[in-house]
Amino acid sequence: MDLRNGFDIKRYIRTLPDYPKKGIMFRDITTLLADAHGFRATIDELMWPFLREGIDYVVGIEARGFILGGAVAHELGKGFIPFRKKGKLPFHVIGRDYELEYGVDTIEVHADAMNEGDRILIIDDLIATGGTAIAAIELVHATGAEVVAAAFIVDLPDLGGSQKIRDKGVKLHTLVEFEGE
Ligand code: AMP
Repeated sequence: MDLRNGFDIKRYIRTLPDYPKKGIMFRDITTLLADAHGFRATIDELMWPFLREGIDYVVGIEARGFILGGAVAHELGKGFIPFRKKGKLPFHVIGRDYELEYGVDTIEVHADAMNEGDRILIIDDLIATGGTAIAAIELVHATGAEVVAAAFIVDLPDLGGSQKIRDKGVKLHTLVEFEGE
């Protein structure tokens, strides 16, 4: 048992074998977020290393990153910036493509959302292959802002994404690990 803030976060994450397809172990955080103590412990644990890091904005990646990133931004007393799927944001955007298992997806941010030199904390629920997070890091860099760290509840280290983030020189913060996919 790995207690976080006196709370066993891992035990509250539900695992669904073969969802959305055979061979994938889906790590469902809705069971963690629905627990009052679990949600608070998760947000506290995600944000505490950054209390004195001079963060300017918290970025959340659609969609589960919005729930977590919004709460982290509120706790840090900072603004929140959504990174959204293609075509959802109403103003001028910049985007970044990333590879999925089949095909390509795009994340976008408003072109004026952050400025050169801003210090950014990126939040999502889970790091698997790292495709989504690397695209988010590159998108922040494209604006001239700096990525202080990327933080996730779950790391799937066997899929290599967390190592890719470290290799990019970005600090990584994760709360629990699961072996395999
Ligand atoms: P990746 O780009 O491969 O690092 O995938 C990360 C994104 O896909 C995250 O936003 C997760 O929400 C989702 N995801 C990937 N694998 C899983 C999994 N095994 N369980 C739950 N969510 C996953």
